[in-house]
Amino acid sequence: MDLSVEEDTSTQSGSLLVIVLDSSPGQRILSENENVLSQCLDAVMVFCNLHLMKSPQNQLAVIACYSQNSDFLYPTSNPDQKHDSKTNDGRYELFANVNQAIRDNIKNFILNKSQGVVCSESLMAGALCKALCYINRIEKQHQIGQNISSRILIITPCNDYKSQYMNFMNVFFTAQKQNVVIDACMLDGDSGLVQQGCDLTHGIYLKIPHLSGFLQYLLWLYLPEPHLRKYLALPPPVKVDFRAACFCHRDLIEIGYVCSVCLSIFCNFSPICSTCQTVFKFLGPPAKKKKNK
Ligand SMILES: [Zn+2]
Ligand SMILES: [Zn+2]
Repeated sequence: MDLSVEEDTSTQSGSLLVIVLDSSPGQRILSENENVLSQCLDAVMVFCNLHLMKSPQNQLAVIACYSQNSDFLYPTSNPDQKHDSKTNDGRYELFANVNQAIRDNIKNFILNKSQGVVCSESLMAGALCKALCYINRIEKQHQIGQNISSRILIITPCNDYKSQYMNFMNVFFTAQKQNVVIDACMLDGDSGLVQQGCDLTHGIYLKIPHLSGFLQYLLWLYLPEPHLRKYLALPPPVKVDFRAACFCHRDLIEIGYVCSVCLSIFCNFSPICSTCQTVFKFLGPPAKKKKNK
């Protein structure tokens, strides 16, 4: 591989990776086997360390989302959680801090906030918005002429975000406008919505066939920067499910009614658009055309 390509664009200005991790404890694969979460976290931490190792300018953020909120695991906003580098036994301080922060924050959440929470859909769209805001802030902090390439990696065992359809679409179009690539690594089942986001932003979407190979997939597919991916033999692109969710029931539909004023989608005809309150006249079959002139 021609390594000079990488030096031209990415290593000089660095790359910002934001990982959005759906870690709601109610997920099926997490509740069936309690070791899955810790195994996945270990793999994510190795992946984070390798991303930071690739270049000293590389930056990292990890956001976890749950059914009631989403939070930064790294960098942490809590100043009490700065860790003592002397206890790290010769490990590189940055890596040790990243791993410790991720571990501590996940543990805090599961012990303190997830008690008694009814299992429901994670607020993935909100976490993605946080990721985009963070990317925007970091990009603004860079001097003019210094470009940082940013991308988001979604890691989720959930396949159903239908009720957040609008929020997802807003996130995807914003990411597309900001040149942020969205990749997704699905642990358990496919999601048509996430597929559409990856397709719009030219990211990689993959539902991993075996959870035991999670780290391998992370390293081979998601570690190389997007501009290097054309040199890799990637898995064939998935057939994207382009169905939209109706605004009335949040069901994915292929054929529906579209409001001509606000473009809301409905699965049934209704004389008044519930989004913009436009009243439609119900016209019979188009019989005669009247000429006004
Ligand atoms: Zn409907
Ligand atoms: Zn309307």
